[in-house]
Amino acid sequence: MCGQFYAGPPCLRGGWRPPGVTFSAVPFSSFHGNAEIVHRLRDMLARQHFPHAMILAGPTGSGKYTLALMLAKAMNCLERPPTDGLPDFCGRCANCTRIGQAEDLDARFAEAVEARESLRDTDRKETRILIQTHPDVLVIPPDPPQLMIKVDQVRRVIYYRPAEAKERVYLFTDSSFMKEAANSLLKILEEPPEFATIFLLTENVGELLPTIRSRAMTFTLGALPSGEIEADLAKQHPEWTAKQRALVARLAEGAIGRARAFDLAHYTGARSHALTILNSALRTGDHSELFKVTETYRAGADGRAKTDGLLRTLYSLLQDLMFLNSGAPELVHNTDILGELQKLAGSVDFEWITYAADRLADVERGMRRNLMRSLSLDALAAALERSS
Ligand SMILES: [Zn+2]
Repeated sequence: MCGQFYAGPPCLRGGWRPPGVTFSAVPFSSFHGNAEIVHRLRDMLARQHFPHAMILAGPTGSGKYTLALMLAKAMNCLERPPTDGLPDFCGRCANCTRIGQAEDLDARFAEAVEARESLRDTDRKETRILIQTHPDVLVIPPDPPQLMIKVDQVRRVIYYRPAEAKERVYLFTDSSFMKEAANSLLKILEEPPEFATIFLLTENVGELLPTIRSRAMTFTLGALPSGEIEADLAKQHPEWTAKQRALVARLAEGAIGRARAFDLAHYTGARSHALTILNSALRTGDHSELFKVTETYRAGADGRAKTDGLLRTLYSLLQDLMFLNSGAPELVHNTDILGELQKLAGSVDFEWITYAADRLADVERGMRRNLMRSLSLDALAAALERSS
């Protein structure tokens, strides 16, 4: 029943729902920030002036994907209850529910990749990752391992009337297209299918061909001010202290989606390890604490994610040290440990920080080659010490 290009959830249509996940009915009013843009988009829906191709630009977490799915629901909702005199969606009908199953993009993506991994070699090579929880709404993420959109994925944008929905929706979640894929998309945009809307999401509009940009309407979603994110977090995460909310708002850099989903316990765990590494290299010279930390980083998928988290946190701390040393303490992200960072900043200079960032990049490259993780972390710590 499934085309050979489909993997994972696309094959499981209809009432399929991932275990343990419930979907809530959330209309446009639940979308945070960028009210003016949302209003304009709904107004275009009302006047049936919605463009065939739309670029939604903005930083990670600014809500590009959420907004595109909301628009897909509003286009296809069976009830389409108006709010404030403009089209909205019910979030409960068969179309809304199935489109809503694509909301957790990371989870759907992981399932599709896993499904592809289980195929025979020959099938795997020809299978592209696509996410389709509704027959007329196709989500197209960058295809691993290159994490680029490939021509076979673009070719899924086909010209026929929608089966069950009013409007066929194609949603490209990223703008890194292989050259052939970009050209194929351009051909489609030159004569866009009449019953389809194509969404292109991007963090950087410049990544798209100018000829593609000129054939699409671009809306740029802005990041929210920290204060607004903190106020939202007070409702979403009442268990967090004001200091913690301020920290998360800073780290999310204006992206409310990222702030809401932020795993604070995971971050502070990784950060205490990162501080142990920096303190042992720069201040104490005591290795026993360091080895206790590094030996907890093991091989395997868990260890990989944990090490990724640690490296990202180390980068974030190095960046803060850089801000402090260049007299810009107002740019520091880890505001809740400012005192500790200032002490560390006193023992390093610009050269050391760039050197340390280079060594971090070495560890990342080593991880891609699957070197023993705890060994490369020990080597990192030793390298930092020698140069301090
Ligand atoms: Zn609906």
